[in-house]
Amino acid sequence: MKNILIIHTGGTISMLEDKQTGEVSTTAKHPLTDLSYYFTSYANVEEIIEFSLPSPHITPKHMLQLAEKINEISSEYDGIVVTHGTDTLEETAYFLELTVNTTIPVIITGAMRSSNEIGSDALYNLISSLRVAIDDEASGKGVLVVMNDEIHSAVNVTKTSTSNVATFQSPQYGPLGIITKESVIFHHTILSRYSHPVTQITKNVFLLKAYAGMDQQILEALYAGKPDGLVVEGLGQGNLPKNTVTSIQKFIADNIPVVLVSRCYQGIVQPTYAYEGGGKQLKEDGVILTNGLTGPKARIKLLIALEKTNDHNLIRDMFEKEK
Ligand code: ASP
Repeated sequence: MKNILIIHTGGTISMLEDKQTGEVSTTAKHPLTDLSYYFTSYANVEEIIEFSLPSPHITPKHMLQLAEKINEISSEYDGIVVTHGTDTLEETAYFLELTVNTTIPVIITGAMRSSNEIGSDALYNLISSLRVAIDDEASGKGVLVVMNDEIHSAVNVTKTSTSNVATFQSPQYGPLGIITKESVIFHHTILSRYSHPVTQITKNVFLLKAYAGMDQQILEALYAGKPDGLVVEGLGQGNLPKNTVTSIQKFIADNIPVVLVSRCYQGIVQPTYAYEGGGKQLKEDGVILTNGLTGPKARIKLLIALEKTNDHNLIRDMFEKEK
């Protein structure tokens, strides 16, 4: 039997519902530990509680701690399953994808309904994750998000619904595989993976969503905060309202990289339009265009990139050449 480590970090999968008040909160003991006899037919399982945090409390520093933990102990196990709150799960998954150095399966999962709620997906998603973690085909595929009978790449997956158990989707390319009652089936694979190990996370990167009529006011407020980098979720193929351009140029002149993603949930940004604020002009001004990442993931990547270099050309390569 394979040896699998489960690392709990908190979130709804680690919580119980108070039947009087309906409030969902963490308990001293992990609610799924008592059900661990379900795991024994799949693998030898060890469990540790790294954090007990709702995922809105998870920061990039927690993500780094988790990555370091996995890098430290991965040679002792055949697979690792991380349980995590779903709100920021995609950011942690992508952080691990960029910083964990192992070929054993690393699965991250969560739940939309806590263990004692009707229709809970907590134990179900954990067992599905164990089944993927012991599957030989899961090796070398990068960090995988397993939820609701689907296997997603950490690069593409995003939370799409506030409450539906089918919340995790990969709108651009779809899931990599499915989990049926009998088997784990991979039907896609990712062609390239990128590794950017870091030993610290010290930078401050803001994320801003563009909107019709946006002007310099909010950008000037962000500039006053002296960030190390800025990610903007632009419009369509990567355009911004024209009254933002002068402020964007100010960031770049001050050596603060500006990374542009799209607020559309599918497609990649491209330098198509040359009008004021159009992607072509923004690129000429030094804005870095991305290859299909969401805003929160581009922010994670920029945080990591800035630990390695301040050279905008190198940062540009990390965003424009890596798919
Ligand atoms: N708010 C919770 C969290 O992310 C939601 C969940 O876990 O599903 O911690």
